[in-house]
Amino acid sequence: MNTQILKINPQNPEKDKIEQAAQVWRDGGTVAFPTETVYGLGANALNEAAVKKIFEAKGRPADNPLIVHISDFEEVDRLVENIPAGTKHLMSSFWPGPLTIIMKKSNIIPDIITAGLDTVAIRLPSHPIARSLIKVSGIPIAAPSANTSGKPSPTIAQHVIDDLFGKVDIIIDGGPAEVGLESTVIDVTGEIPVLLRPGGVTYEQLRSVLGEVQVDPAVLSALSADVVPRSPGMKYTHYSPNAEVVIVEGEKEKVIHAINRLVEENRRKGLKVGVMAVDETASLYHADCVLAVGSEGQPQTIAANLFYKLREFDQMGVDIIFAQSVKEQGIGMAIRNRLNKAAGYNIIKV
Ligand code: AMP
Ligand code: MG
Repeated sequence: MNTQILKINPQNPEKDKIEQAAQVWRDGGTVAFPTETVYGLGANALNEAAVKKIFEAKGRPADNPLIVHISDFEEVDRLVENIPAGTKHLMSSFWPGPLTIIMKKSNIIPDIITAGLDTVAIRLPSHPIARSLIKVSGIPIAAPSANTSGKPSPTIAQHVIDDLFGKVDIIIDGGPAEVGLESTVIDVTGEIPVLLRPGGVTYEQLRSVLGEVQVDPAVLSALSADVVPRSPGMKYTHYSPNAEVVIVEGEKEKVIHAINRLVEENRRKGLKVGVMAVDETASLYHADCVLAVGSEGQPQTIAANLFYKLREFDQMGVDIIFAQSVKEQGIGMAIRNRLNKAAGYNIIKV
């Protein structure tokens, strides 16, 4: 397939380029585009053949449902059976922005979107390119992250080019994604809202608006084989670079000591070893490749850099990565969730 790369100004998207990409969506094609979370791969959510192209390009398992993206609050009504009490307030508090809300689906949503579930995931993104594209197209857009299934999500256009060039119609380059991690997913179909995936909107922020919020067990620990997760995507290996990832957790001095020892052990085996550090500790590690994700005190920066750095380790041909963990507060919950999954829950406590 001929993939066109389209550079668009993220502050002030050029009208002619937006119209060109929107037309591809109307014609049943695929367009990768920036959002404030990560880059998405979009297609017409109401056109089954178009949505199928997303699954094919990504190699995404058919039982992992997609998020439907809209550009205006009013569009929710025809996509869902009803909007539960309190959910309008949730929407006005965090939309446009990195929050995905699960509600009972209406019958215009094709089964391919929801993997046969009776619920649908909806988000109104804030990124100017995403918003104007969806608005101009006039259709709801199904869009998972624009990576090959299982790889770290793309935070710049080059990541999308690396994974999907030749497999999609257009890749828009609109600069780096600001949040760097996927949206928060919350299910409001039950009595108490359930956090299914932590992301750009934090658990603390959700609690301040909703009062009570449950956290799905799949968020912070490995699922045992007999548990069916409420968010089907949670059961897959995710966000993994080619290199093996091992997390080392504990008191700071002990972590540094343990990682340096593990680095030595693995280098002696002939492996190329990487360390994912923070700015404050990077100079204390002696590995083939040490990358800092940001300052300890700035978890937003760590979130924005995480997937980028995981891909950078792969480019350097690292075999194994030892990573420091982060605190669970705020966006830290989402960082830990992605890091744990990238490591397949291979966590050493010291
Ligand atoms: P991604 O497209 O990579 O951002 O992943 C979307 C996430 O939303 C996955 O974890 C899906 O399992 C989850 N998701 C999408 N639709 C639903 C739904 N109807 N119910 C529960 N989780 C959903
Ligand atoms: Mg994804």
